[in-house]
Amino acid sequence: MEKYEVIIIGAGSSGIICALNSSKKTLLIEASDRIGKKILATGNGKCNITNNVIDAAHYNTPLVSQYFKKFNTIQTLKYFENLGIHTYADNEGRRYPLSNSANTVLDLLLKALSLKKQLRIIVNSIPLSVAKVNCGFSVNTKDEVFTCKKLVIATGGNSGMQYLNQLKIDYINFKPSLVGLKTTKNKGLAGVRVSNVRVKYGNFDENGEILFKEDGISGIVIFNLSAYLARSNINSGKIKIDLLANIQEDDLLNMLCISMNNNSYYTLVDVLEGFLHKSLAKNILEKLALDKKYAKDCTQQDVNRIVNLIKDYVVDFVGYSDNNQVHTGGVDLKNLDDNLQHKQIQNLYFIGEVVNVDGVCGGYNLQWAWTSGKIVGDCL
Ligand SMILES: Cc1cc2nc3c(=O)[nH]c(=O)nc-3n(C[C@H](O)[C@H](O)[C@H](O)COP(=O)(O)OP(=O)(O)OC[C@H]3O[C@@H](n4cnc5c(N)ncnc54)[C@H](O)[C@@H]3O)c2cc1C
Repeated sequence: MEKYEVIIIGAGSSGIICALNSSKKTLLIEASDRIGKKILATGNGKCNITNNVIDAAHYNTPLVSQYFKKFNTIQTLKYFENLGIHTYADNEGRRYPLSNSANTVLDLLLKALSLKKQLRIIVNSIPLSVAKVNCGFSVNTKDEVFTCKKLVIATGGNSGMQYLNQLKIDYINFKPSLVGLKTTKNKGLAGVRVSNVRVKYGNFDENGEILFKEDGISGIVIFNLSAYLARSNINSGKIKIDLLANIQEDDLLNMLCISMNNNSYYTLVDVLEGFLHKSLAKNILEKLALDKKYAKDCTQQDVNRIVNLIKDYVVDFVGYSDNNQVHTGGVDLKNLDDNLQHKQIQNLYFIGEVVNVDGVCGGYNLQWAWTSGKIVGDCL
């Protein structure tokens, strides 16, 4: 049985930062063959490290604010600069490494970890059980039993559930978030990308770009909608999309009438192709049974119906796709103190996605991983 001051289970973004900041004899246990693997997939391989504007409005709970007071964007950027990771912001405030490569982030984090003297890292190892014992905690893997005074759970999303159950920790059920949505068939639209759409559902109202799939929709605005739906426990419904959000309804009506007059021998599909992707033009006109009509035969009522459908296109959402970027749910911040230590079980800490903190797209989830990992690392 080997004794440690600190054991961290999970070597993703939060676990790595936590280990880097621990000044004690620490064991970092990782299930996969490499630590920090997920970082490589973030931001489409570019790693959207954080955002210039981090505030509670971007998360599912206002309770995150107190933690960002301890370690915010500016401090994170300074911290990364000290590790040699320099960043730039795009025009939406999303920060990426100057190299535009997530490899840089992981490489330099690994470099810093390699310089830590009191740190042991084990990969390809999944603790089978964790338990509270007199001197702290015991962590049992297939091959070894470890004990520690302080235990940090950094397993990300729902993979930490077994430990929450073993330690009898209350948590909010995990649900996928920041994920594409399954829909009924989008006839002929697979692969069609539409910019400048406005997506509405309940109180959700956001502009952006969507990508149609055969039976789904995706894109950042849809990921953000999935966060809203997951937090509200909604599994089906009708999503309204304004397909030409940058053109007012009256203007669109006029433009369409003028285009029809100018091109009266065009089919309506030809006319509408001047406004929308051809497949979308066809899909809309088929829905209205106007796809065979010529502009010269089009009535005012037909034009109104076309405009109404463009401005109020309905997609039937029937569930969540796979490959979610984060989970909503986890250990409630109400049960954790200022240092993310469990209020009932001393020396037990939770960081990253296993905590019920999830943000929208834009660097907010990694920022939570860095913030929570740093806070706990500093107090170990
Ligand atoms: C494709 C993709 C792109 C993303 N892009 C961005 C982005 O650009 N910006 C952003 O802010 N967020 C992004 N995210 C979200 C972000 O990656 C996560 O929010 C963040 O990594 C969570 O950090 P974490 O440390 O909690 O969990 P993770 O980074 O998931 O790390 C958890 C680690 O624990 C290990 N583990 C799990 N169970 C066990 C176990 N039982 N024993 C031992 N080890 C275990 C896992 O193998 C993993 O290495 C993206 C996510 C995905 C999937």
